[in-house]
Amino acid sequence: MQIKRLASAVAMATGAAGLMTLAATAQAQETFEWKMVTSWPKNFPGVGQGPERLAELVDKMSDGRLTIEVYGAGQLVPGFEVFDAVAEGTAEMGHSASYYWKGKAPAAQFFAAVPFGMNAQEMNAWLQYGGGMELWNELYDQFGVEVMVAGASGVQMGGWYNKEINSVADLDGLKMRMPGLGGEVMDRMGVAIVNMPGGEIFTSLQSGAIDATEWIGPYNDLAFGLYQAADYYYYPGWHEPTVMFEAIVNDEAMASLPDDLQAILRTAVADVNQSVLDEYTARNNDALQTLINEHDVQLKRFPDDVLAEAQALSEDVVSELAASDPMARKIYDSYRAFQDKVESYHAISEQAFYNARNPEGDTTTE
Ligand code: CA
Repeated sequence: MQIKRLASAVAMATGAAGLMTLAATAQAQETFEWKMVTSWPKNFPGVGQGPERLAELVDKMSDGRLTIEVYGAGQLVPGFEVFDAVAEGTAEMGHSASYYWKGKAPAAQFFAAVPFGMNAQEMNAWLQYGGGMELWNELYDQFGVEVMVAGASGVQMGGWYNKEINSVADLDGLKMRMPGLGGEVMDRMGVAIVNMPGGEIFTSLQSGAIDATEWIGPYNDLAFGLYQAADYYYYPGWHEPTVMFEAIVNDEAMASLPDDLQAILRTAVADVNQSVLDEYTARNNDALQTLINEHDVQLKRFPDDVLAEAQALSEDVVSELAASDPMARKIYDSYRAFQDKVESYHAISEQAFYNARNPEGDTTTE
């Protein structure tokens, strides 16, 4: 009797397990083919490698159930139309930087780069543990788009100039490519700001259509050949203490994925967020040496009065943006409160350590 009951229980259990296996198999067979549009030249070093790595990771982790075709700027849509393409569903996802969308949502700029604001380590802390990601998603929710942080440049370079900058007056009348809030600050220092995608910078600088440009840092600037078009390479990149890159996903496309594929996608984005920054940290050093030693680039620090003026004007520009609408106010209040806290601690940790490790400071120039 007891044996009979046991056998029946085993049969029931086996049947249930069999059904579960069938369900799992059906799920495993459902495949998704996505498009990812980007604002970068296809396969561009650093930032352009991030989306490629993302697609590879998702393909491997999902065993081919979710595949993502990566498009460079202009291949499916222009670099500055990535957000619209994702919001409208032309592509399921995109990789870009949020300050390109300031025309849609001015507050988006706070998530990309704030002059004299937080660096990559601090931004990641605010976004992941300080409420930043929730605010970023609240901002994009109205467009039917989910955002994840997907890479960082680290502190950028100040840019390429075709003449020496010895005072604020030397900036007056220059034509320069610089996006975002930094461009607004430069504008107030008398610089005529021109915005253009990365792919057009070199030609514009070489032809004299612009007198100066910033792009990213030594690794990318070397790849673009900017040293062939301007002699002076300035630091530090006060305008972009980092740029944080974004992965954006159409809400309906995300909802169509089973839970495990959503988890795989989010995990791959988190990997890329770190690996893009690591690649910049690793490759900028050698690239800077190549620029100086092989291409005779003149490395220069911005004069103190230029930095002081830029910092004062940055306060104005950022405060005005924060006052421009309630969402901008809410985001910047959170940003600023976090920066104040992390700055106090980093003064006695990161900054104090840098000073202790290298009391001489910068010895590259003069
Ligand atoms: Ca830049």
